[in-house]
Amino acid sequence: MKFLVDMNVGKLARLLRMMGYDALLFQGHDDGALVKRALAEGRVVLTKDGQVFQRRVVRLGRLKALRIEGEDPFLQLRQVVEAFRLKYDYRPFSLCLECNVPLEPRAKEEVRGLVPPFVYESQEEFHQCPACKRLYWRGTHWQHMGRVLRGLEGKP
Ligand SMILES: [Zn+2]
Repeated sequence: MKFLVDMNVGKLARLLRMMGYDALLFQGHDDGALVKRALAEGRVVLTKDGQVFQRRVVRLGRLKALRIEGEDPFLQLRQVVEAFRLKYDYRPFSLCLECNVPLEPRAKEEVRGLVPPFVYESQEEFHQCPACKRLYWRGTHWQHMGRVLRGLEGKP
C-alpha cells in the first residue's frame, strides 16, 4: 500500500516511512492535483481536508482516502494503521525519511570519515539515500522510535 500524504498531516509521512511504507508528501494546496496524482500513482490519500471527500472519485470509491483527525502524529498514525489493518513493523533501513527513496546498503569502509568516529567504531550496518546522500545507522533515535511504535501496538 502506497500513500499520498497531504501537507496538513505531513508528519505522518515520516512515521509511515519508518514502517517501510512508501509515503509521498504532497506539497501543494490544489485538491484537484492531489487527487489526480493519487489516482495516477495508485496511492491512498491521507488528509484532514474534508473537500477531498466531496469529490466524485472518492465518493464512488475509485480513489481510497482516509480523513485524519487530531493533531498528534502518533494518534494519526494509529488511525491509518487501524483503517487499513497495517502492522506496526519497524523497518528503519527501508526508505529515506526525508525523500521517500529506497535506501542502499553501504560497506563500513565506504562511510569512513563520513560518520562521527564513535558511530564508525560502534556500528556495522550503514545505509545511504541515493538522492540526498544522508547516511543511516542504528542510533538512539531509532531505538526510541522502535519503542514508540511497539507502545502504540500494545494499546487498544
Ligand atoms: Zn534522502
